[in-house]
Amino acid sequence: MSTGSPVGSHRVVSPAGVLPQAADRLDDTPDIAETEVRIRIERLNLDAASYRQLHTAHHGDGEAIRAAVLDLVERRGKMHNPQTGSGGMLIGTVEAVGERSPLGLEPGQKIATLVSLTLTPLRIDDGLERWDGLSEQIPASGHAVLFARSIAAVLPEDMPEPLALAVLDVCGAPALVRRVVARRAHARSTVAVLGAAGKSGSLSLAAARDARAATVLGVVRDDTEAARLKATGLADRIAIADATDPLALAEAVAEALDGRGADVTVVCVDVPGCEHGAILATATGGTIVFFSMATSFSAAALGAEGLAADVEMLIGNGYVPGHADYALHLMAADPALKDLFAIRIEEAR
Ligand code: NAP
Repeated sequence: MSTGSPVGSHRVVSPAGVLPQAADRLDDTPDIAETEVRIRIERLNLDAASYRQLHTAHHGDGEAIRAAVLDLVERRGKMHNPQTGSGGMLIGTVEAVGERSPLGLEPGQKIATLVSLTLTPLRIDDGLERWDGLSEQIPASGHAVLFARSIAAVLPEDMPEPLALAVLDVCGAPALVRRVVARRAHARSTVAVLGAAGKSGSLSLAAARDARAATVLGVVRDDTEAARLKATGLADRIAIADATDPLALAEAVAEALDGRGADVTVVCVDVPGCEHGAILATATGGTIVFFSMATSFSAAALGAEGLAADVEMLIGNGYVPGHADYALHLMAADPALKDLFAIRIEEAR
């Protein structure tokens, strides 16, 4: 048994010299190195931007979406959508633990991986026959591999698995929002969350309030989402706007925040084209968290420069220490948040 690289570079098939996330193809064989862990997979959770792209590209044809996912995983040895660059995560049961794995996992434990599917060796062995191609969550059989430098969370026993999977997929968002808002505590901030009735959006609202933001504004795309969000009480104010329409978005945010831009803007929308609206909607000296995987670095950087906007822009790193526990804590503490997630999971079935 080989030791294996802690960052998984021994699993890279091509191109040579890159880390697994940047690889075109990974080695998905089930034999593990001494530092690896093999997971028997039970359910995949496709990243929202990736699923939306697949759904659009295949005109909502479930069979075609299923075939596309199978083909991607087969060709790449991982679920890495080349169009969005994103993946998702999975839940499963620990099947084998290398004797030098530092992850502290034991065979038989039910876990969620907290590293992206874009860097997780993955092989599917049931042809995804239990999935109709019409949901972000995929019942699946096969195996996945974790490296020494991976993260996983043991699933809470008191939470349904689909809910835990949905929460843990976006758990980086609330932890980052809490950090950013708490850092500005000298002047309590106004926080605007775009895509506020979605999964990462609603958790971000809860985190902003937990971090004692002065005002929490939820921006949603239509009346239905506004009513749904209002029922949760997560937002102090609600605005309706298309986040891809920069002028309309900035106007809606300013109107909701008494004529000012937001001190902190969090982009949790799952479609491209929200960079310029987020910049225009943010006050001078404010911070934008681009959690969305549909964000374009060049559109954000050049857009801010072109608007002479003095704003700090953060890429939503999916990892913040303690992120899983914090997201699960927010969920457990607020039944309304749980209800919102339940609706989304049901709709996505
Ligand atoms: P989600 O639950 O689907 O929420 C997205 C929300 O945005 C939905 O409420 C959606 O409304 C809304 N929306 C879509 N288009 C809009 C528009 N033009 N204007 C205003 N609102 C709009 O998605 P999620 O799971 O929270 O994921 C959100 C983003 O985070 C995705 O891009 C995903 O890839 C990314 N993500 C990032 C990480 C990371 O580590 N950084 C991890 C996981 C996910 P409808 O439902 O009506 O369409």
